[in-house]
Order: sequence, then C-alpha cells, then structure tokens
Amino acid sequence: MRSVTTVADLRRTLEPSRRGGDRIGLVPTMGALHAGHLSLIARARASCDVVVVSLFVNPTQFNDGADLAAYPRSIDRDAELARGAGADILFAPTVAEVYPAGFRTTVSLSGLTEVLEGAQRGRGHFDGVSTVVTKLLNMVGPDVAFFGQKDAQQALVVAALVRDLNIPTTIETCPTVREADGLALSSRNVHLSPTDRERALALQRALHVADELISAGEHRPEIVLDAARAVLGRAGLEPEYLVLTRPDDLVPVTRIDGPVLALVAARVGQTRLIDNRLITPAPRPNRQVTAPC
Ligand code: AMP
Repeated sequence: MRSVTTVADLRRTLEPSRRGGDRIGLVPTMGALHAGHLSLIARARASCDVVVVSLFVNPTQFNDGADLAAYPRSIDRDAELARGAGADILFAPTVAEVYPAGFRTTVSLSGLTEVLEGAQRGRGHFDGVSTVVTKLLNMVGPDVAFFGQKDAQQALVVAALVRDLNIPTTIETCPTVREADGLALSSRNVHLSPTDRERALALQRALHVADELISAGEHRPEIVLDAARAVLGRAGLEPEYLVLTRPDDLVPVTRIDGPVLALVAARVGQTRLIDNRLITPAPRPNRQVTAPC
C-alpha cells in the first residue's frame, strides 16, 4: 500500500492504472477505522483493480468544535488496518491540501439535507459532506465509491449529488456492520462508558421492535413509533429523532404500505449515535378467490 498526502501525488500514483483502464474504487472515511469501514474496503477489493481509501476528518461538516476536537484519530493504526483489508493507496491529505487559501465553493443540495441529521447538526453539515465528497470524487476519479448504509441519509445525499452533477462514479451502499449484540459500529463508540455502551443497545432494540410490529401487519406509524420510543425511554434515552420514512426521499410515511426506513438518533451520555433499519412489511396473505363455476 502506498500512502500519499497531496492531490498531485495521488493523481501521479493513479495515472498508470487509469491509462490501463483499471477499475478504481474509492472508500472515503474520516479514519478511526473499524470493521464497518473495513467491510467497505473489502467490498471495494472484491470488485475493483485499485482500491483507494481516503482518510480525512473534514472540519466543515462538524457543527460543533468540541466534537471535531474529540474525533478519534489514529493514522498509523488506520494505515495498518487499511492495508490489511486490501487498500492499495491511502490518501490522507491535510486540511490545507483540501481547503487551500482562497477556497470558496460549496456544493449544496436542496431537499434530503434539511431534515434529520441536517436539522440536528445544522444546514452546514451536509454542505460540508457534499463539498468534500465532490472534491474527493474529483481528486480520485473512481469508477465506484463505497458508502455505508449506517449513514443512510448521507448515502442518499451522495447518490443525489452524483446524479445531479453527472459525476461518472457509481455509488454503492453497503450494509451496516454491527457488534455481536447488535450495536452499529461507529468511531464514536469508543467514547461510551460501559453503562452507556449498554444503554446504547436500545437504539437497535427500538428499530427491532418497529420491525416486529410492521412485520406483524401494523400499518399505523404512530403505533410503531410509540412502541419504539418506549424502548428508548426504558433506557433513559430521548431521541433527537425517531421516524419512519420512504426509503428513497426520507419523507415521513402516514401509512405503512410498503418498505419504510426507520431512522433514530439519540445522545447516549456525551455521545451522539445514529442507526437505521430498512423494514419491509410482510406481504398480505392472498385472499381466497373462489372461481366462478
Ligand atoms: P466515517 O469515517 O464515519 O465518515 O465513515 C466512513 C464510511 O464508513 C461511511 O460511508 C459510513 O457510512 C461507513 N460506515 C460507518 N460505520 C459503518 C458501519 N457500522 N457499517 C458499515 N459502514 C459504516
């Protein structure tokens, strides 16, 4: 694996592969790699000739300076993990490399970005994400880029911006990797105290209860959400949001008639966690139709 820190070096390194028609895959990350990130790298390894992993803690997507300062960083460990998972190139630029003096462009989507994470973290969050992802796609020029379903809204935003801006990259969204007990892996989990680690399981349990009710035929979102909220409440958690939406555009559903995306965010102690689950109602049993004689 080759480590590069500048766009010029990255492009030079990729040039022979690009000329040779190799399929280039990009896995954008903010580092502090865990098995969720490694699953994206493994997926890229399985389907691409060249795998680029970017590692950049993007300051513009943090609304809270303390959150940015506390974000776990471990570049040497990350390099070892990325190499082990099959990365060919680790691109770890500095903030000045990504945002040189005079930088003045923002990529901003309307729709999809104002709700949920956008509402909680502020308008600038998805502007920061959209701008840095657009830049990374332009820097690397990948055929395919891999994102996690864990950040469902982010994956939808990235897919939309790639479509809107005619960026010639396929976006592949990969399943959420979880701990054995169901907690979604997140770089922020390291901040959880043992008690909060236990309470954090309520997010996944709340989504599970929603799934059970919907699978049993419940069509009323308010009934499902009340039951899921009760699960959070028993763990002493107050959700920042807990919603059932259409999977493609995050519009809340008023009746559950098809697949819905259940999304939850909650602060557990000092740590803000998110999770989501795509829930598909069981097909209605066929009504017995009696053929006319
Ligand atoms: P981050 O470093 O948190 O920006 O995440 C980098 C990429 O890894 C994003 O596409 C995330 O959605 C994805 N990711 C984070 N956690 C998980 C997980 N538990 N399972 C799968 N993908 C994940």
